[in-house]
Amino acid sequence: MTSIKPISLYDTPSIDEVRAAARFDPQVIRSLHSKLLRRFDPDDVALVGFPLGDQLRLHALEFYRRYDSAVDGATKLLLRTSAGMLIESVILRVESGRSTLCVSSQIGCAAACEFCASGKMGIARDLSADEIVDQVLQAGQLLVTEGRQLRNIVFMGMGEPFHNEENLFAALELLIAPEFFNHSPGKVLVSTVGVTDGMLRCAARFPAVNLALSLHSVRQRVRERLIPLAKKYPLDDLHRTIAEVNQLQATTTVMIEYLMLAGVNDGRADATDLIEWLDGLSVHVNLIPYNPITDAPHFVGSDRPTCRAFAQQLRTAGLKTTVRYSLGNDIAAGCGQLVRQENRMIARQTLVDDG
Ligand code: SF4
Repeated sequence: MTSIKPISLYDTPSIDEVRAAARFDPQVIRSLHSKLLRRFDPDDVALVGFPLGDQLRLHALEFYRRYDSAVDGATKLLLRTSAGMLIESVILRVESGRSTLCVSSQIGCAAACEFCASGKMGIARDLSADEIVDQVLQAGQLLVTEGRQLRNIVFMGMGEPFHNEENLFAALELLIAPEFFNHSPGKVLVSTVGVTDGMLRCAARFPAVNLALSLHSVRQRVRERLIPLAKKYPLDDLHRTIAEVNQLQATTTVMIEYLMLAGVNDGRADATDLIEWLDGLSVHVNLIPYNPITDAPHFVGSDRPTCRAFAQQLRTAGLKTTVRYSLGNDIAAGCGQLVRQENRMIARQTLVDDG
């Protein structure tokens, strides 16, 4: 007997075919989408009244494990692909009650940034659009059980989103489409290390979706040390690109992400150069105290007085600046850290079992 491959929840043409053959009302599909993707009802509740529910695949990923921070309300979800590979998403619950989900776009990452655990893994594969949005669905379902709402979706997890541009764009379409998640594009942010052509295509196609650039330094040599891809996308190109993105996105500013690394990029002169480089651009600077990883012990985060002084210098120059203290330090919430730890544990376990 041949088994029938389940149809993805997002595969509208195939679902329509099944619906037409089984002769049920299209409203039933609209209702399922509404219950599942906008109200985040549990699967069994959403499927009530849906004929042929067993032919549908609601989730592209399987829940594997969760880690809850004991100190700051962050939760890291580990989700598993059908081939058993782990990916991670992080829920950040801030005091205001507005929750943010950090999603992954790839398994591992080819960008190999010096300070990043995902970059130390290399790339395993791109995530499909279904796998990207399923992180949103599973996190949304978890949050509603706590009476919380998922407000912001940020592509800051594992992977360089513009290295998986086709699936990223398909996922963005699903997230903002009224008939699917109906999420406000202004509450979605895509963070890149500076893939300039991808940034421009994204701004043109999704003008209300926010873009963030991981800048970290305006000194080419320092930037190349931190981000190998900086050689391919030099600072002059980045500057031109942000100016063009500003033109394409009249209602949003570009977020400038700046990791504060002690002795690397956190001096007064670094701030002065940054102010000069950002002159004339519509940006918001986000300073991020560094969350150390075991694979890069040579980097140490700047201390709080240094972060405060750096932020003050930028603000005095008229730049909108926030300092984002990392959440989830105790659960290794920096992108890729937990997956690496889990994979090491699994590898060790395998060695023990085999031994
Ligand atoms: S910081 Fe982002 S782009 Fe760089 S290696 Fe990590 S996941 Fe990839």
